[in-house]
Amino acid sequence: MDDAAYNELVSSLTPYEEAGGVKTYTNTVSLACPACEEPFDDLVVCRDEFDSLELSKVMDLCVSTHDGNVLLFTHQ
Ligand SMILES: [Zn+2]
Repeated sequence: MDDAAYNELVSSLTPYEEAGGVKTYTNTVSLACPACEEPFDDLVVCRDEFDSLELSKVMDLCVSTHDGNVLLFTHQ
């Protein structure tokens, strides 16, 4: 994902949580996922070389990258 698309995406989302290298944004405006074009629930940005996620639910994930960071789009 390029800078323009990433910045536009993040500016429309609500920051939810930041822990270690992982930052989560909530999609309160039903933006479409860039991978599958269905609205996603949260965007998870993983900025460290290695991160672990503890998922509390089973969810579908779509994945992209921006500037070396992994972007996860969650769908419940
Ligand atoms: Zn998706």
